Amino acid sequence: MTSLGKIWFVGAGPGDPELITIKGQKLLAQAGAVLFAGSLVDRAVTLYAPPGCAIRDSKDMTLEEMTAWLIEQARSHATVVRLQTGDPALYGALIELARPLSEAGIEWSVVPGVSSAMASMAAAGESMTLPEVTQTVILTRVEGRTPMPDGEDLASLAAHRSTICIFLSITLMHKVETALRAAGWPEDSPMLVVHKASWPGEEKIVRGTLADIKQRCRQAGIASQAMIVASPTLGALHWETLARSKLYDPTFTHRFRKASA
Ligand code: SAH
Repeated sequence: MTSLGKIWFVGAGPGDPELITIKGQKLLAQAGAVLFAGSLVDRAVTLYAPPGCAIRDSKDMTLEEMTAWLIEQARSHATVVRLQTGDPALYGALIELARPLSEAGIEWSVVPGVSSAMASMAAAGESMTLPEVTQTVILTRVEGRTPMPDGEDLASLAAHRSTICIFLSITLMHKVETALRAAGWPEDSPMLVVHKASWPGEEKIVRGTLADIKQRCRQAGIASQAMIVASPTLGALHWETLARSKLYDPTFTHRFRKASA
């Protein structure tokens, strides 16, 4: 029996090659073959993959071609990496790619990555949650060619008034605006758009409101690779009043600290 290699689905992070995990970097360094997802993650591959590694960009491949390539590589290499942007579990066709591997008896595992949702909030110095403002984050998209399942249209989700990170939708900003308005978000609701979050020298941060964010993005020339965030937490750095986190409140006792008088 020939022994087959293992396929690793590795999250490359949002773009800055230093935002891959140490585990992901180590796997790339020992990889015999890497299938990477387009221009978004090529820098991590060129930096960390060893000389002689078989490297293939998946941007012009079908799912069937990708699985065939991965299985083929696993016949001759112990470590094969499928490198994906951000985290592999978000909009990454992970299960579709993994099923045929399981069927072929090939072992696979996932190494998580820093999602662009996290990187976008980090770039702007914003928090996804704030005490008494929102304790919930919704990761979603608006309907493009991929239909949204029942009950997940943005207007319904926006009714929660939580932080909403909207992927894959920068060209559909009009739909985002319509949905937020339908859910009753006021025109002065703060919004954030981050283009190429964490990319050295290429990141753009645009702040605005429901009323003007589309216009501001147009002025900034942002038409792709952007995260849209609508959240009642945005801009909290400059608020006059802010509820305190219980964990760090001097009057709050917990397992590791006694309340001061
Ligand atoms: N798995 C990825 C998402 C892939 S879907 C993740 O966890 O981030 C691709 C979408 O992700 C893009 O349309 C954009 O909305 C977002 N995205 C990916 N990289 C980004 C970045 N560096 N900055 C802002 N948005 C990004």
